[in-house]
Amino acid sequence: MTVSAPGVGTDVTGLDSYRDRVALQQPTWPDAGALAAATAELAAAAPLVVPSAADHVRDRLAAVTRGEAFLLQGGDCAESFAEASVERVRNKVRTILQMAVVLTYGASMPVVKMGRMAGQYAKPRSSDTETRDGVTLPAYRGDMVNAFEFSEASRIPDPQRLVQAYRISGATLNVVRALTEGGFADLRRVHEWNQGFMQNPAYARYESTAAEIDRAIRFMDACGADFDALRTVEFFVAHEALLLDYERALSRVDPRTGAAYDTSGHFLWIGERTRQLDGAHVEFLSRVANPIGVKLGPTTAPDDALRLMDRLNPDGVAGRLTFVARMGAGKVREALPALVEAVRRDGRPVVWVTDPMHGNTITSDSGYKTRRFGDVLDEVAGFFEVHRAHGTVPGGLHVELTGDDVTEVLGGSEEIDDAGLARRYETLVDPRLNHQQSLEMAFQVAEMLRV
Ligand code: PEP
Ligand code: MN
Repeated sequence: MTVSAPGVGTDVTGLDSYRDRVALQQPTWPDAGALAAATAELAAAAPLVVPSAADHVRDRLAAVTRGEAFLLQGGDCAESFAEASVERVRNKVRTILQMAVVLTYGASMPVVKMGRMAGQYAKPRSSDTETRDGVTLPAYRGDMVNAFEFSEASRIPDPQRLVQAYRISGATLNVVRALTEGGFADLRRVHEWNQGFMQNPAYARYESTAAEIDRAIRFMDACGADFDALRTVEFFVAHEALLLDYERALSRVDPRTGAAYDTSGHFLWIGERTRQLDGAHVEFLSRVANPIGVKLGPTTAPDDALRLMDRLNPDGVAGRLTFVARMGAGKVREALPALVEAVRRDGRPVVWVTDPMHGNTITSDSGYKTRRFGDVLDEVAGFFEVHRAHGTVPGGLHVELTGDDVTEVLGGSEEIDDAGLARRYETLVDPRLNHQQSLEMAFQVAEMLRV
């Protein structure tokens, strides 16, 4: 590997400048020596993603800013070490590939496919503690920090979990690469991806799309087309760059250019809770060359968006900066236009993505943290309406999903109701679309993209 760790104490790239800023949402590690040992191990480890691959993603996202491709980001709210099995990873990859097929075929638009995967192990929390039955313990902050189990020992932050997250992310990436480069993702297998899922309406609809694709492929075959390009797909990984101890330790200088990259993923984003202009997260990501995103909630002022562009993409490099709007179905039509218009007038390109999940979280009557599928779709519709009205590009979709038949989001054509949530509610943090709701969403978004 030709990528080297920056020399200790030199900070030629400013990668340590974030240490002078306030970093919100960091765990209180109990033992500084153990933390130093863990980060030293990561600093000496192989990168998960090489700089040229991150550059390539930036180029693909530049096409999104021009309306020539659509970005699909999806995966768990919080990955867990226990669920990094081949089967679970395959189910998620397959769901994203199926959504991408529906979007590509339905809207004749290339799709940039990206998992919230191989690093989505740290969570911001609204409270530092959690109380159950009169017992108060530190909050669960993701498998990279502590364990979900509600016991005193489990909730103590353990820096060795940073190393474990790196190793499991590497294993996850291996599976992703085997699937997407080894023929599993071959478009001629669109039917096979659907096997075992035939019972309900979204699957039947997917089957008929798959049959049309088959027909088109046979036609092209008869015309003598070369299908080598269909065998593999590009698939990228992204996560919230929340724990700066992890992100810093995996950052490397590219000897080709002297630029620094965060090699923990192709694409990193800053969450709604940590996007302060003078905060540590903005400072750190301003120093790495990866394509990056920032979540924007309904209280974002137009000037906040412009100042974030100044800090994170001052020269307006196309594909460098993505804004992920997560407004809520009831707010997107009021809150988004001023932001979109300010950015349009500024002229520096950004990728606009809708996250229709995080502004629509509710607690059901029986006490589950959930979302209504109808609200999720309505936010996406509002996002498209705003961009159509302003002549700007609705560039992508960011969703929390799983490839399994969980019951965490209300509604969809299976009509999951409050009682139905209990059937298979497995998420550690936020509710995810299940496989069938994800496909349903893709069909709806393909319609919106078509006009
Ligand atoms: C998330 O993506 O899981 C998340 C916490 O989102 P946000 O930062 O938008 O609240
Ligand atoms: Mn979430």
